[in-house]
Amino acid sequence: MDKSFLQSSYLDKVIKEMALVAGYLWAKGWAERNAGNISVNVTGHVETGQAELVSFPEKKLEKAYPSLAGAFILLSGIGTRMRDLAGDPVGNTCMIRITDDGEGFQNLDDGTVRDKLQPTSELPTHLAIHEMLVIRNAGEKAVVHTHVNELIALTHIKKFTDEKAINDLLWAMHPETVVFVPHGIGFVPYCLPGSEKIACATLKALEDHNVILWEKHGCLAIGDDVQDAFDQIDILAKSAQIYFLCKSAGFEPQGMNKKDLDEIRKNYLKDIF
Ligand SMILES: [Zn+2]
Repeated sequence: MDKSFLQSSYLDKVIKEMALVAGYLWAKGWAERNAGNISVNVTGHVETGQAELVSFPEKKLEKAYPSLAGAFILLSGIGTRMRDLAGDPVGNTCMIRITDDGEGFQNLDDGTVRDKLQPTSELPTHLAIHEMLVIRNAGEKAVVHTHVNELIALTHIKKFTDEKAINDLLWAMHPETVVFVPHGIGFVPYCLPGSEKIACATLKALEDHNVILWEKHGCLAIGDDVQDAFDQIDILAKSAQIYFLCKSAGFEPQGMNKKDLDEIRKNYLKDIF
């Protein structure tokens, strides 16, 4: 089957970026086995008509996503290792199109080219987030989920299982965190991974934050593109690393004080605060 409609310089760029970031996640030790997943809403960048689409079977979704009707989403495949995605992005990602009624999807990789690679098992969470971003008319098109060791470790410390406490700590560890993650992380108390409960709590937390920390599990970020989502996670991870470095050396980190933080916000975040 001719799948030339899945090839464009824009899609090439997105796929390369997914591969780059997947490699970072693996290299940082945040993507053991098949942990982590990435998706990008590429609607508007796939040139295709009904003639090409008619041959792809429709699969029913458990829940409808009417605001995503007709959307094209590029995702990491089910069971995909991030290190494999880094080396062979085309073979480890798949493109889906949400049906016109929003109640199902067509897997445009069903067939011969990629041997029926299915989208990540976290598909419902990714779709719910992309739908929320469309409704919100937000600029963010990418979603990245990964298991950041230092951030997960923080959530095993009782006093940091509180949104204010953990954000105050992360901001106090490095000026960059204050500037580039000004709204901090949204903290989601432990829920069963992949459950409806975690998806609902995540959507709620995304109303005020671009990065969500799932207690004892990992984090999820939205960004304009995949690198933007990664950068925010990376900055937060650095703050957590600095905290644990000080603790490992036997010291309680001083952290920046309120005056330092207020000065940074006043100088760099005039539009927000
Ligand atoms: Zn996970």
